[in-house]
Amino acid sequence: MTREKPKIAFYWCASCGGCEEAVVDVAEQILDVVAAADIVFWPVALDFKRSDVEQMPDGSILATFLNGAIRTSEQEEMAGLLRRKSKYLVAFGSCSHLGGIPGLANFFTRESILQAVYFDAPTTENPDRVMPGLPLNDRHGELTLPYFSDRVRSLDQVVEVDYYVPGCPPQPKIVTRAVLTLLGEHPPTKGSVLAPDEALCTECPRKDSKPDKIALKAFRRPQEIQIDETQCLLAQGLLCLGPATRAGCEARCVEGNMPCTGCCGAPGRVREQGAKALSAIASLIDSQDESEIDQILATIPDPAGTFYRYSLPASLIHNKRGV
Ligand code: SF4
Ligand code: SF4
Repeated sequence: MTREKPKIAFYWCASCGGCEEAVVDVAEQILDVVAAADIVFWPVALDFKRSDVEQMPDGSILATFLNGAIRTSEQEEMAGLLRRKSKYLVAFGSCSHLGGIPGLANFFTRESILQAVYFDAPTTENPDRVMPGLPLNDRHGELTLPYFSDRVRSLDQVVEVDYYVPGCPPQPKIVTRAVLTLLGEHPPTKGSVLAPDEALCTECPRKDSKPDKIALKAFRRPQEIQIDETQCLLAQGLLCLGPATRAGCEARCVEGNMPCTGCCGAPGRVREQGAKALSAIASLIDSQDESEIDQILATIPDPAGTFYRYSLPASLIHNKRGV
């Protein structure tokens, strides 16, 4: 008798689609996954419907990999449904893990976002000042639209999460290893982030050029300097968040001459990635003079967006109103 293969699922919520690409980028290794498991739900690639999932017995999916943050009532419902149907629910990618780029919307109120999108944007043409209704009546009949909630949340702020696959998007090696690990006989400790628990600097090809002490009079953007391709980017004044970011991506951005922006979140011992990155960067400022320090800090464009680019919803401050 042939043994039934374990079932896995992929789903997206508030997502750019990059995490779906990351699954496809696994390339021929996806065959190892397909050989080991049946994909029973993957709306971006396969024609399954929500009703198909509703009919599955609870707990019958071994692992669901859910990417994207949670912003709407529909996303919250799908997270709850897939939680019920899955033995392991995996937050896949920065948005699901920490709130990600969509989480930067938490710097604004729901009302100001709707105002900007439906009325104020230069490309918006809305003379009748129409807003989507709940429900919406139009020529197709009555539609019930998902509710756009007050703020963006990471997946574990909505349902219980078993594992996290970090990255924006996660690198193919991390994805393949994570999937095959969960299909194996020895699943990792619940709550694990499925990537090495150390700072990116430890696997960076430029780590030997990183000085023990860095002292900076200004921070630079990549387009402002001729970057030395062999030297530590931070030592060149570029805001590289490698010291406050979890390893596992093999420093792909740094290899491409771009500073790390922190998408894999912080290593396990760090509670607050933004604060850790901010304090690591502040300690490099080469001045004791208050006004000079202010001038140096002014060379950091958009500090909140830089240090909390991927982690605002999961951070201690949550959003600018702190709720
Ligand atoms: S983690 Fe990055 S790639 Fe994945 S959905 Fe979010 S923004 Fe897109
Ligand atoms: S700071 Fe950036 S460039 Fe320097 S060693 Fe760390 S990851 Fe590499």
